[in-house]
Amino acid sequence: MCGSCTPALPTGDVTSDAPGEADRARGSGIGRRGLLYGGLGASAALTAALASAGPAAATTSGPVRRSDAPMRAVLVGTAGGPIWPMASGRRGICTVVEVDGARYLIDAGHGSAAGMVDAGVIGPADGKNDLTAFRAGFITHLHSDHVTDLSTFLVQGFIAGGLGSVESPFHLYGPGDRGALPAVFPPGRPTPTAFNPTEPTPGTASMVRQLLAAFATDVNDRIFDAGSPPVDRVVQAHDIELPAGVAVPVAGPPARMSPFTVHEDDRVRVSATLVEHGQMAPSYAYRFDSDHGSIVISGDTTLTPNLLEMADGCDVLLHEVVDQATIEASISALPVPEEIKEAFRNHMFGAHTTEAQLKELLRDVEIGQLVLHHVVPGELPRGGWQRVAQRLGRGTRTGVVAGRDGDVIGTR
Ligand SMILES: [Zn+2]
Repeated sequence: MCGSCTPALPTGDVTSDAPGEADRARGSGIGRRGLLYGGLGASAALTAALASAGPAAATTSGPVRRSDAPMRAVLVGTAGGPIWPMASGRRGICTVVEVDGARYLIDAGHGSAAGMVDAGVIGPADGKNDLTAFRAGFITHLHSDHVTDLSTFLVQGFIAGGLGSVESPFHLYGPGDRGALPAVFPPGRPTPTAFNPTEPTPGTASMVRQLLAAFATDVNDRIFDAGSPPVDRVVQAHDIELPAGVAVPVAGPPARMSPFTVHEDDRVRVSATLVEHGQMAPSYAYRFDSDHGSIVISGDTTLTPNLLEMADGCDVLLHEVVDQATIEASISALPVPEEIKEAFRNHMFGAHTTEAQLKELLRDVEIGQLVLHHVVPGELPRGGWQRVAQRLGRGTRTGVVAGRDGDVIGTR
């Protein structure tokens, strides 16, 4: 999921689990305890199964939706989860909201920089090759499948794309340091050694600072040799501060809260709310309101009251979705006892949203259009995501579509 989220454990990104690791672990004598508790072997097997589920489909084939409304969402990438290779043909999760020509980035998954060219956001399709229209960006959470192309966007954008300026910096907002490691899962597994123990859970500001620092040789070459502006003045990252009295959740669901404003300019007001994404906290959904309507992006989450409040009355809701049958089949195939499989099921479905939960959502809130994105797996047999959208649309006034890379969805 989360696209991120199948992580090593089903709620995290699966980034550290290379396909085939389970087989290697079994062959190399990893103890029964490791398998019993669903350690790397089981997690890797689940990750590999989900990554390869479904046929390699041309999800961008056929005419994409191309709204020319003044407020619209460009679906740059629609795949959920760490994807390597991209068996479904979808790029990693990334959305660009456009309001009267101003642009706002929401997440930057694998392949999203190239996907912006394909979608006509930058490059030949729009006749220019710059990022000057981008005013701000918003990271839903720090699973790698949502941020892995951030360095390309920021560094290449700063060097060659005109991203931000000293007078008008590009502002990037995202989760702060939650200040605590996740609980060990499944319960009873020996506590592992934390990676990077001096800062095991950096927030958005620290992540961007470290990303840019890693490119200091190049950045300084540009500053000294080519007259580029100081990167830390034109790109400014911010940890989102929660309203007074709202604590960062480190275990269990987030506190019930109402949306709060994180960014406002002459085109748009952007608000955030906490959503429930397993142990990945804080995780945010965002709502964009303008003179032309409203767009909400769920981020990775299971069905969450905070999001229902935020989404009610919006014109367009982009929501994540996972295929329950695929996940259950993948978990059933794991070489672990039944109680561990059940723990995995609870883990996965406590962090993501199924078709049945979206049906519930549509009963509870008024939405102009529901767009499925961040889909897991990337493709279902025989155009399955289209059929899911059709089923969800029955008996409701809400239009429901299965998003594809390159779709441009307007608010009217
Ligand atoms: Zn995630």
